[in-house]
Amino acid sequence: MAHHIIVRNPEVTRTCTRCKQTLPISIFPTHKDRRARCRPCWREIRRDKYIKTNTPEERSKMAAFNREWHHRNLENGKCRVCSQARMEYGQYCETHYIQQAARLNIGKCSLEDVEILKKKFEDQGRKCFYTGEPITLGMNSSMDHILPISKFPEQRRNLQNVVWTTRNFNWFKRDFTMDELLFLCQSVINYFNR
Ligand SMILES: [Zn+2]
Ligand SMILES: [Zn+2]
Repeated sequence: MAHHIIVRNPEVTRTCTRCKQTLPISIFPTHKDRRARCRPCWREIRRDKYIKTNTPEERSKMAAFNREWHHRNLENGKCRVCSQARMEYGQYCETHYIQQAARLNIGKCSLEDVEILKKKFEDQGRKCFYTGEPITLGMNSSMDHILPISKFPEQRRNLQNVVWTTRNFNWFKRDFTMDELLFLCQSVINYFNR
């Protein structure tokens, strides 16, 4: 059966109005007021603003305060973001681990998004979507895009396209689509059973 993939946003690249670079759409914020500039440009804008509105003394005071706060949380076995108890692996509570991991994989991640990803993890029975191996968050957990974002950049922020896998399996899957993956696995099986 052929799968029909509805591509809602056919735009794959965009030219940033600030740095004039043409970049993958996943590098741009989704909010309509921000999407004209790329994320690295927004980071520079925020940093410039921070430097302009705070004196060097204020900045070093804030940095020292943050460092101290994170350090104290880590020393006391707490999450470095919210100071709740942290998971067995890593430096975060479950919520902030998922949020940090999602920020790397899908971009901005609200606490509602975290709840969706948590529910997904439970619905998968805390197992790898592809292999059924048990997953421990922060230890061997990884987030995978079923439709790989290198081929479907508009699917980066679609949580329905995200599943939990083991780190090993995600590494193995690379940017294969489901069809490519199954074809490869079947080829190995066929060849070794010949
Ligand atoms: Zn830019
Ligand atoms: Zn936390």
